[in-house]
Amino acid sequence: MSAKTVLISGASVAGPALAYWLDRYGFQVTVVERGPALRPGGQAIDFKGRTQLTVLERMGVREEIFRRQTGRTDIQFLDRSGRPLAVLTGEFLGGEVEILRGDVAAVFYQQAADRCRYLFGDSVRALTETADGVRAEFENAPARAFDLVIGCDGVHSAVRRLAFGPERDYVRHLGYYYAVAGAPGWGMGADQPQRGVAHGWSAPGRLAVKGGSKASQLYIFAAPELDYDRRDGAAQRRLVTEQFASVGGGVPGMLAELPGLDDFYLDSMSQVRMKGQYTNGRIALVGDSAYGNTLGGVGTGLAVVGAYVLAGELALADGDYGVAYPRYNEIMCRYAKIAGQSNAGRFLAPRTALGLRGRNWFLGSRAFPLMMKYADNASNDIDLRDYPSLVAAG
Ligand SMILES: Cc1cc2nc3c(=O)[nH]c(=O)nc-3n(C[C@H](O)[C@H](O)[C@H](O)COP(=O)(O)OP(=O)(O)OC[C@H]3O[C@@H](n4cnc5c(N)ncnc54)[C@H](O)[C@@H]3O)c2cc1C
Repeated sequence: MSAKTVLISGASVAGPALAYWLDRYGFQVTVVERGPALRPGGQAIDFKGRTQLTVLERMGVREEIFRRQTGRTDIQFLDRSGRPLAVLTGEFLGGEVEILRGDVAAVFYQQAADRCRYLFGDSVRALTETADGVRAEFENAPARAFDLVIGCDGVHSAVRRLAFGPERDYVRHLGYYYAVAGAPGWGMGADQPQRGVAHGWSAPGRLAVKGGSKASQLYIFAAPELDYDRRDGAAQRRLVTEQFASVGGGVPGMLAELPGLDDFYLDSMSQVRMKGQYTNGRIALVGDSAYGNTLGGVGTGLAVVGAYVLAGELALADGDYGVAYPRYNEIMCRYAKIAGQSNAGRFLAPRTALGLRGRNWFLGSRAFPLMMKYADNASNDIDLRDYPSLVAAG
């Protein structure tokens, strides 16, 4: 085997999945994660279609993922007086199985944690490729050389910045921001939505959702790129409050609760554009770092399939990244196409009153099941190789 040691940056969905597969194929794996531990909770994410379920099956985690599923939640859009306008179905939002992101990370992590080395609370600071490896410098740990380095560190990937170039060259702002606050919650009081239904209120370019499996509050708003302090949570909450001040319905009540909710997170809705070139020398990207599209509804499945394909191609090529990486690029360029096609902000929070009426009409029309069918077809649009058997056959 030419490559033996692999550094993975990021331990959320793609990172632990890739660590599992690489370890299974005999690589020595180190994972560096910026957070002090695996991040529990998080929003509900989902897996769609038989291809993604097949990968979970081959990882031996399908049963555990289903055991931990959230149960899917409809979002019922209401007008200011509480009259129902339209429903976005839990089936659309939650795919075949919906589960909290932290639970996915924990399930994948447990599959190989005792055999991989996890460095929590650290981050790569510099990567230098040499003739026979990549020298990685860390914020805390001593520098070390690896045969390969893989970035599984999300839309704002440090590995992509260090190995490919600045974020502005690869990440496109989709004209919207989102904020989540509080743990996913259902039916905690008389005024709360029941489990199975979240409530949403809209204005042009604005959507606020209360309850459901994404978070206890979810806000989406149209805005050009904003200049705000990423470390100042209070200022970010004020920003959300200003954006939603005039929306009405249940939103004033949500905004009143917002200062008291934990787990607040605000970020732009962005699309990563790598033009099918997810590798550079010995360095590769998997998951949102390579083909992310915020709230596009496909990121988790792409991350899991991408990890499966990259590890499988590396194992089949006996660690020769010169053979494996082009195959990975080719396969994932096609499969990840769907991530380049959607803008969840525009779909969920159209900028005009006419657009909002169109959204509500569309959700009740015959065209909506067709869109779901398209998404289902896209999630299976890959000729998935049975790498575990192929590698075992040697
Ligand atoms: C509100 C919301 C709802 C969503 N709903 C869905 C859904 O319904 N369906 C779906 O398929 N997808 C959904 N997604 C998208 C899904 O969360 C992502 O596609 C998926 O988590 C991608 O996994 P990843 O491992 O590539 O990246 P991420 O989950 O972003 O993880 C990146 C990891 O890298 C770590 N990291 C970052 N920088 C560094 C660094 N410098 N050094 C070390 N570690 C670092 C981070 O701490 C994190 O652990 C949703 C996302 C959001 C925000």
